[in-house]
Amino acid sequence: MDFGRLREVNDARRREWPGDEQADLGFRALEVAGEAGELCEAMKKYLRQQKGIAGSTATLDDIADEMADCLIAVDLLASQLGIDLGQAVARKFNRTSEKYGLKTRFGEDG
Ligand SMILES: [Mg+2]
Repeated sequence: MDFGRLREVNDARRREWPGDEQADLGFRALEVAGEAGELCEAMKKYLRQQKGIAGSTATLDDIADEMADCLIAVDLLASQLGIDLGQAVARKFNRTSEKYGLKTRFGEDG
C-alpha cells in the first residue's frame, strides 16, 4: 500500500459513503483532529497499563487502528485540497533533512 493507492480507495469509498457530498473542508479538518485525539486517547490508555494506573487500557492494535484512521483522514483532507500526499511527505522530509544537515532523503522517484 502506498499513498497513491490510499487515495484511490479513499476516493472510491467517498463516492459510496452516504452524505459524503456534505463533507466540506471544515468537516475534513475536524475529522483529522478527531482521529488525532483518538490516537492520543489510545496512547494514554496504553501508557496507563504500562504504568499500572487503574482504568481502561488499549493495545498496540488499538493504537495501530487509530494511526491508520489518522492517515486515512489526512488523505481525505489532502484530496479535497488537491494535495499529493506522497509528494508533500517527500518534500517536507527532505526539507527537514536539509535543515539539520542529514543525508537521508527521498529520491526523485520517492
Ligand atoms: Mg478512530
